[in-house]
Amino acid sequence: MSQIPVIAIDGPSASGKGAVAQLVAKTLGFHYLDSGALYRLVALKATQLHVDSTDHDQLAAIAAHLDIVFQNQEIYLDGKIATHEIRTEQCGILASQISAYPQVRKALTERQRKFFQPPGLVADGRDMGSIIFPNARLKVFLTASAEIRAQRRHKQLMEKGIDANIALLLQDLKARDERDSNRSIAPLKQGIDAKLLDTSSLTISEAQNTILSWYNEI
Ligand code: C5P
Repeated sequence: MSQIPVIAIDGPSASGKGAVAQLVAKTLGFHYLDSGALYRLVALKATQLHVDSTDHDQLAAIAAHLDIVFQNQEIYLDGKIATHEIRTEQCGILASQISAYPQVRKALTERQRKFFQPPGLVADGRDMGSIIFPNARLKVFLTASAEIRAQRRHKQLMEKGIDANIALLLQDLKARDERDSNRSIAPLKQGIDAKLLDTSSLTISEAQNTILSWYNEI
């Protein structure tokens, strides 16, 4: 077992894993990796550069040379705040498409492992426990029903002043689940060594406490 503890939290879009992972990291004083943000940043940069979503080589080059900084809850791309821009549905859908390309995933692998620093790390994504941090001390597969996730995403977007239609969100989430689960590289699935946490009827703090108690039991 590695000396630096990692808690890997994987799961589908809008399951609440980001909010829960950040709280767990804060409670333990650990670093936090939002790996989905990296795929979203590649998508944003590709949009800015008008790179086609099927151009594997260009997308991998963008991933390899991303100029990004995570600082005080803000995410910077090329020195400019991109925190909110990467959260749009459009950016999420493009991120999901390009994350199926092996070259893009490879280009982001080392960047993700750089977050592996003392005193510990909480990493959320799709392949944190399976590929990026296979030696993680605790692996959690955090999910919720598609309907609940669509409601949560809707609330989140409305709070940010982004207009959204719940039926369309549900459709997009299901399409993204399908794509993320069926791709040949790093598909989204619960690993045999991951604990299942269904948050459909849990609050964020109940989910956080469950993970902390699992971690403390190890
Ligand atoms: O988690 P989030 O919704 O921000 O991720 C955006 C997209 O990036 C996902 O739909 C998924 O396709 C991709 N992703 C991935 N591997 C990760 C994190 C995100 O493929 N570790």
